[in-house]
Amino acid sequence: MDKKIYVPTEKVSIDCSSSQYPLAKILVIYTGGTLGMVHDDKGVLVPFDFEEILDKIPSMRYLSIEIDVVSFTKPLDSSDVGVRQWRTMARLIFDDYAFYDGFVILHGTDTMAYSASMLSFMLQGLRKPVIFTGAQLPVSAPRSDARINLISALEIAAAKDKDGNSIVTEVAIYFNNRLLRGNRAKKVESVQFDAFESSNYPLLAESGLQIRYNRSVIDRFGTGLSLYEDLSDAIAVIKIFPGIRFSWLEHILSDDQMEGVILETFGSGNAPTHNQFIKIISDSVKSGKTIMNVSQCDGGKVDQSSYAAGKGLEEIGVLSGDDINTEAAVAKMMHVLGQNYTCQDREKILSEPLVGEMSYRSFFKN
Ligand code: ASP
Repeated sequence: MDKKIYVPTEKVSIDCSSSQYPLAKILVIYTGGTLGMVHDDKGVLVPFDFEEILDKIPSMRYLSIEIDVVSFTKPLDSSDVGVRQWRTMARLIFDDYAFYDGFVILHGTDTMAYSASMLSFMLQGLRKPVIFTGAQLPVSAPRSDARINLISALEIAAAKDKDGNSIVTEVAIYFNNRLLRGNRAKKVESVQFDAFESSNYPLLAESGLQIRYNRSVIDRFGTGLSLYEDLSDAIAVIKIFPGIRFSWLEHILSDDQMEGVILETFGSGNAPTHNQFIKIISDSVKSGKTIMNVSQCDGGKVDQSSYAAGKGLEEIGVLSGDDINTEAAVAKMMHVLGQNYTCQDREKILSEPLVGEMSYRSFFKN
């Protein structure tokens, strides 16, 4: 991978004592996606060279942030991001953690919520920000959201409190004036600028004239960084739908390489009550597969005790995903199955919040 060092040449001089934020050094990791695209002579979108970023976004000069950029040698559409790319991103941050105040990952929006979720499990104990951002329109488009998203993400990655500690100490997504917890975010819009939602967790920050941080909901528990590179991709996401053919479900679940399944169910975790369906799921659990129940709804949570249609799953050993979303469930399942946990520990860890991806049940009980 090429490492290109980029330092703004026309940096405005700042007096840190009167500046809102002290000078910071940020590593930008450019993985691909729409943000870094420009139209070539034939009107085709191609990745642009980050050394020309000041031509595209001249106001970056006034950020008073020192920036290094590292790019994926071949920038990717985020549909092609997977385990290898997550390892690369996590490793880059882990290796350079001591040298930067924060990290900005430029990523396509399509799978950004999956990558942000994954990095929250791979990089545990963060005390510095890892901010994902991207854009709906390429940086070359006149009304592009790339400029404001990139500049704001850099400001957030550089933001410190009066004691010099980073304000954001977790993996987050900045998009369209809002900062969302990475493992609570979901892409909900493919045309409008407000592409991300976090239905089950408050915004970490909102930007208007100023960036206002909601500090009471930002994770402050980072005790020092640990890297978890081992992931299992032997998982599947199965979305239940009315009229699903049980024999096909049985066929899919009969693959004994499959270790974990995220079962996307209705409402508060409900699924068909038919004996054949219950037996198929039950046999899968008995064969050693870990099955987690995640709701198809964006907001709310799975409660396997509220309806008979959910109770049946609980009784056969399906784990409740509570208010986790599918993106975070995929990341958590890959992470947990990648570690050498006993079956009991695995189930316990999957049922409790690990890095803020789900709520404490007691929080919702009353
Ligand atoms: N297909 C693009 C991607 O996710 C869309 C985007 O960047 O917004 O890479």
